[in-house]
This record gives sequence, structure tokens and C-alpha cells, in this order.
Amino acid sequence: MQTMRPDLLNPLFAQSDSLKGVGPNLARPLEKLSLLRLKDLAYHLPDRFVQRRAVANLDEASVGENIVIALTPIDYRSPAGRGPFRVLASDEPGNVCALTYFGRNGGWAKKQLPIGEKRWVAGRLDQFGQTLQIVHPDHVSDDGALSLGTLCEAVYPLSDGLTQGRVAALVQQAMALAPELPEWIEPGLLDKMQWPKWRDALALAHKSEHESARDRLAYDELLASSLALMLVRNANRARSGTPLMGDGRFRDLLKLPFALTGAQKRSITEIEGDLAQPSPMLRLLQGDVGSGKTVVALEAMLIAIEGGAQAALLAPTEILARQHFDTLSRMLTGTGVNITLFTGRDKGRARESILMGLLDGSIDICVGTHAIFQEAVAYKNLALAVIDEQHRFGVGQRLMLTQKGKRTPHCLAMTATPIPRTLTLAQYGEMDVSRLDEMPPGRQPIDTRVVAVERMDDVIGALARHLETSQQAYWVCPMVRELETEDIAAAEARYAELKLRFGDQVVLVHGQLRPEIKDAAMERFARGEARLLVGTTVIEVGVDVPNATLMVIEQAERFGLAQLHQLRGRVGRGADKSTCLLLRGPTLSETARERLALMRETQDGFRLAEEDLRLRGGGELLGTRQSGDTPFRVATLEQIQRLLPLAHDDARLLIERDGGLSSRRGEAARVLLYLFERDYGVQLLRGG
Ligand code: ADP
Ligand code: MG
Repeated sequence: MQTMRPDLLNPLFAQSDSLKGVGPNLARPLEKLSLLRLKDLAYHLPDRFVQRRAVANLDEASVGENIVIALTPIDYRSPAGRGPFRVLASDEPGNVCALTYFGRNGGWAKKQLPIGEKRWVAGRLDQFGQTLQIVHPDHVSDDGALSLGTLCEAVYPLSDGLTQGRVAALVQQAMALAPELPEWIEPGLLDKMQWPKWRDALALAHKSEHESARDRLAYDELLASSLALMLVRNANRARSGTPLMGDGRFRDLLKLPFALTGAQKRSITEIEGDLAQPSPMLRLLQGDVGSGKTVVALEAMLIAIEGGAQAALLAPTEILARQHFDTLSRMLTGTGVNITLFTGRDKGRARESILMGLLDGSIDICVGTHAIFQEAVAYKNLALAVIDEQHRFGVGQRLMLTQKGKRTPHCLAMTATPIPRTLTLAQYGEMDVSRLDEMPPGRQPIDTRVVAVERMDDVIGALARHLETSQQAYWVCPMVRELETEDIAAAEARYAELKLRFGDQVVLVHGQLRPEIKDAAMERFARGEARLLVGTTVIEVGVDVPNATLMVIEQAERFGLAQLHQLRGRVGRGADKSTCLLLRGPTLSETARERLALMRETQDGFRLAEEDLRLRGGGELLGTRQSGDTPFRVATLEQIQRLLPLAHDDARLLIERDGGLSSRRGEAARVLLYLFERDYGVQLLRGG
């Protein structure tokens, strides 16, 4: 999309390498932290702050404390062998402290700390034997005022090749070039919250633990997101879709072997109501693994077909597409509905014939991967698009998919990731939501146990007995280290080990395998030829193999609750009792312990999602950026929970009053949308 960004923002969107002192050697480290433009630097907020105390002499300071102190070097101690270089320095009354440098030959330290000249030193006071020492002082300077300026100092997230000083200097440069921006927050709210203006808030957030500055910045991001999603929603309402009134003639022919649950019935009624409207549906069907989303999607698709139109179902992977196709085909037996599978693999004649069928309308339902929405694919009358595993697609993609054809198709998105209500709003705020919060009856609970990794032999023994009963099993290796290659190596080592014991019936799946190889392994497992599937978390959204009734998860403490739940959902799909073994390491944090206990206790995905949020969001103001799996960069989980509802209401009010964003505040809100690169919202305003 072409950008119409306000000129005002240009300085913030300038590339980082336009700054002084940024050469090619900083390109990679900056890229690693996504600090590509000045605005990224300005928003690169400190993880925390070091607080230092200025002390007149060493007697005043305690070991472990961060201090700033004036010291005079009196002697150098060169390393014997591989030891550190030490500068002995004395305070005013004559107490001695060592300034210790590892891995340096001393030349550098001598230059900074000449004998007999007073220097201001900032760092953490330690004790080494009987000697006080400061290891690698954070700052050494001959300027007292400068040193006292470091009493409260930002600690930034770093990557290899960057130092705190470097990052701080770049942030300062970026901040100096940041313009004042018009106020987009409602004046009454700004007043009530006592929030600083945008530019001041950024400056304050870099200087100290300024809660209200951080809140304002988070609020900005949440407001931008809410506004953008609401604009999408409005634009969608203004489009014309195809009102679909099903007469039930195909639905009546379905012979389901079960009665629908209350939640399924409710969702279908909600969808039916949406489909009858002239504006396109935009609805999310949220339901845990196994809650029965497929049949809901099928009913929706049949309504479209009864209305004389076509429907498409988009799956994130080819395997899932195939599975959906098989399931739906079975359910549709005897209905006369024509369903087809279309993936990127179809070539030549087969492809031609599918394209023809879609164009002349002889195909009623098309199931496939993103290939089904490619440019070259034209439908006679596509009225409903169902998107499975919605969380794999961003808002931008969602928009693209629903812009197929003259009339906008109705869109039903499905996700098995039970996210908490607040996050649903953040992620899918442009959609209406139906929740399948009731499981089909007769589901057996999965016997979940936490096992210490020291009992690995027992686990392997249990696995062997399990495989002898001709049932299948999953073995999940974690995907948590900095380097993906290390994780893959660990998974490959485990695979090799298990293969030694269990032979050819073991297959391996991970993200770095070529898709054909991965698919082939999955298919062998799905057909039952392979009995043990070893994999990284790529199996999270994967095959449905009812005969797989044992799951082993290694280093379970390193997974989030939501993810453990998602993984566990791979078993317990058939009539047989299933087991999930959570292997844990020797030491567990309090949170990890609580998480594993919850896994044992409940299988309710929505409850686990709420607990996950509580455990991770625990009121921390600064520190670990925990918004990892939210669409936000500035707002923490805690801030999302506290401020998002506010931002959401604010956005709604603004759009109700000024849907075209043309008032003064509306103009400011446009600036905000561009600043946070949520400008697809603005693009929709122009496009109408
Ligand atoms: P999801 O896609 O939500 O994970 P599925 O649609 O694959 O779940 O359904 C899981 C299983 O439950 C399927 O075997 C399906 O046939 C079955 N199922 C769906 N609805 C019901 C129901 N109301 N009663 C009993 N079984 C059901
Ligand atoms: Mg499903």
C-alpha cells in the first residue's frame, strides 16, 4: 500500500544509519533489535534503571551497592598469568579499592586512570577476599558533574555489537530530532490521568521509572490499534456483501452422528444472523481444540450454498487443508454438494479443471491453502470465506483475503488459541466473536502428570510399553533458546537417541526441514506407519491422529501455559484414554511450578489463557517485555489489561463523532495511526 504519511513524521521515519556514527558495523546489531528508523530508537525504552548513590568515601558505601565515588589511582597490578588487570585507587581518607579489568592488557585502563589524578568512578562495589573492588566500572570520568548525572541511568535491551553507551547516545540523537506532535488523546482523559505530552513522555521514559510517561506511551499504542481495527470494521460495514438466506435444503441432508452442543447451536445462529445482512460478516469463532469448530464452519458454508453461492475454506498448511477436505467430504456424503481440494501443488490439467469449476460455479466448496485466494483464481460467486487458525494471519492479510471479488465475501475466522478476553479485543477488535465454550460430551480428560527429568528411563520405558499396544505417541522438544539452530540440534539428538531404541517407526519434524520432507513425515505418522513423532513445537497446529494417545513434553517448564495446552490438545482426540507427561528440569521457579500445577488441574483452555496472562502479567512495570505474543511493542501485558478497555472506548467515541477523522483531533489521530504503522485504517478511509 502506498503511504500518505504526514510530513511531520518524516524525521521519525528516517533510517537509523542517517545518524552520526552509525556505519555498516552497526547495521546488523540495530537490525537485530528492529531499530531501523529513528522512531524505533525513540521507542527503544529502557528495561530498567540503575540507581546509584554518590558517596564521599568507601566507609559510607556497602558491598553490593551501586555508587559514584571520587578515587585517586595509586598503583597498577598487572596480571600474573590470566588474571585481571587491577588499578588500586584510594578515596579521600585513604581507603583502598581495586578497579578490576578482565581480559585487558591494562593500557586502556592506565590511560583512563593515571596515577595520582582524581577520577569519578561509577559502578557496583564488590568484595574480593579482603579487598573492596569495582569490576569493570560503568563510567570513569574527570568530570564530577557528568558522573553525578549517572545517578539514575537507563539500562537498554542490547544485542551483540552494541553497548549501553552506544544505545543511549543513539537514543539521544533520535530524541533530539523528534518533533512535537499534535495531541490525539482526549483532553479530559489526559487531564484526569495527568499524562505528559507525547514528546515529553518519551523523554521522561528514557530518564527514569516514570510510570505515567510509560502509561501514556502504551496508551498511544493501544489507541492506535483500537482505532485501526475499528476503521477496518466500519469500512467493512460500508461494503456490500451478499445477503444469504439459506432454506435448509442442504443442511437437512446432513447426517451427523451426534447432536450439536449448545455452544455450537448458539454460534450457528449468530453466524446465520450475520450472513443474512447486506454488509459482510466479520466474525471470529473462538473454540478450544476439539470443541467442534469444523461442523459450525460446515453449516455456515451450507447456508452460502443454499443461497446459490460458493464458499472457501483457507487452512494455514497443506496437511490441515487435506484433513479438512477429508472430514468435510465425509460429512457431505449424500448431499450432492461438490467440494474440492486446491493447493499450490496442483499443476497442469488438474489445476485448470479446478479453476474452471470455480469460475463456472460447479464447485460449491473449495478447501485449500492461500493458493485459493491468489490473483489468478476467480470464483463465480464466492460469498463466504472461512479462515482456519486465524492467529497465523495478521490484520493486513485478513483484509486482503476478504477483498476478493466485486462483492466482499462474508468472513468467518476460526482460532483454537483461547486467548483471554482483553487480548481478544486487542487482536481481533474488528470482529464479532462467537465462543465455543462447551466441549462435546463424552470427552475423556487427558491424564496429565509432571515428571522430573531424572526419571527419563522410566519415561522411555512407559513409551516403549505404550508403543507395544500399537498406539502412537508424540515427543516434543522445546524451542526456546536464542539460536534456533541449537534447538534443532537438541531435537535431532533426541530423535537419534529414540530411533536407536525404537527404529524405523520414529519420524522427526521441525521447522528447518524442507516442506516435502516434513509433510512426508507427518503423513507417515498420520497413516500409522510411523508410531512416534519427535518434533519441535511445529506440531502445535498439525495433524489429527486419534490413535496418538501419549504426549511427552520435554522441559515443559519453559513453555507458556497457552502453548502447553495447545500441544496437549494433539492427544485425547479418540475414544481411548490419553496421557500427557510434562518433563521438568531439576529447578523450577515459583511461576513455573504454578503453571505445571495448573496444567494438571484443568483442561479448560479459556481458564488456562486467563491464568497465563495473570502469571506473566504480574504487575511488573518495567523489565521483561512480556508482550511477546501480543501485537504490541510498547504496551506490556499489565498495561494492555489496564488501559486497553479505556483506549477501546475512546476510539469508539472518536469514530462515532468523527468517522472520517477530519476534526482537529481526528487529524491528530491520523498522525498516531501512521506513527504506529496502523495506517491501513487510514487507507480504508480514503478507499471508502
Ligand atoms: P476443532 O476444529 O474445534 O478442534 P473438530 O471440529 O475437529 O474440533 O471436532 C473435534 C471432534 O469432535 C470431531 O471428531 C468431531 O466430529 C467431534 N464433534 C464435533 N461436535 C460434536 C458434538 N456436538 N458432539 C460430539 N462430537 C462432536
Ligand atoms: Mg479444527
